[in-house]
Amino acid sequence: MTRIAVISLGGTIASTGEDGSSGVTPRLSGEDLVQAAPQLRAIGDIETVEFRKVPSGDLTFSDMVALAQLIEGLFERGVGGVVVTQGTDTMEETSFAIDVLVRDPRPVVFTGAMRNPTTLGADGLSNLVGAARVAASRDAIGVGTLVVFNDEIHAARFVRKSHTSSTATFQSPNCGPLGWIIEDRVRFVARVSQLAPIGEITGEIPEVALLTMTLGDDARLVSQVRDAGYAGAVIEGFGGGHVPARAVAALAALASQVPVVLASRTKSGELLKGTYGFAGSERDLLSRGLVSAGSLDALKARVLLSLILSSTNVVDEAVSVFRAVVDSIWSLAPDVGR
Ligand code: ASP
Repeated sequence: MTRIAVISLGGTIASTGEDGSSGVTPRLSGEDLVQAAPQLRAIGDIETVEFRKVPSGDLTFSDMVALAQLIEGLFERGVGGVVVTQGTDTMEETSFAIDVLVRDPRPVVFTGAMRNPTTLGADGLSNLVGAARVAASRDAIGVGTLVVFNDEIHAARFVRKSHTSSTATFQSPNCGPLGWIIEDRVRFVARVSQLAPIGEITGEIPEVALLTMTLGDDARLVSQVRDAGYAGAVIEGFGGGHVPARAVAALAALASQVPVVLASRTKSGELLKGTYGFAGSERDLLSRGLVSAGSLDALKARVLLSLILSSTNVVDEAVSVFRAVVDSIWSLAPDVGR
């Protein structure tokens, strides 16, 4: 039987209340969750690791670096697959950070819950069992980090939390799920390969700003990015990658100092490269040194740039590693063969 480690970080899946009147908070351990789901015993030899017990908004990049080290260590000790349980609020960022940081091809699967264990129709245990099935599946090897939720398998690089309360909140707008779970069977219909590597993380993860362009924006915040101490920025522009003409000078000045990535506030599709020629168009901005996020949304582009900037502070090097990872997003993995 495959050895599966369940690493718990808190979140709604682990949240219960003390007296029924003051709201739920993360209280349950990974062991509590595993004990409540006897179906796990037929899937693998389950071990649990208590890593954090927090709302996922309190997780940090340092937590992710420590989590990646923990996961690599578990794989070195012979674990065949890892399930990470955490809050859903930041799962689209944390799962992508682990996708970038963990190089071992064995499955890492994130899951959580939208309905806490005290509510009717709580979804945590069924998500946990689904995640364990995927973590034990040979088909999940070499496809990067996954998010399993609501019986669907999503690639961390594509997935977004799209709804405040629906149990179907996790969606991959560009391509849909990579597969699904039906009864005890895991089905993949698409396989992406592991992301291109970044350099070794060497210390603190520098802060990268994320700014969304809005109607009539005068880019006043853009000119404050350096003074506020940010090491880079992600600009969430309009549509295919556009900003108001009057924002261009500030963005070009910033891009001459630190890496500035251009993403789209539509949060789906891929950035244009060569269609529009107006001031503030994608062609204009890319020619002034902004770097395309490709099909990464701004949240994921910020995670990637932050991690890269911890491995190098040479701007050209950071930009070329960023581009290599963006280019690897869509590479397809070979079939495992059966
Ligand atoms: N606030 C929770 C968290 O992200 C929400 C959840 O788990 O769904 O920790």
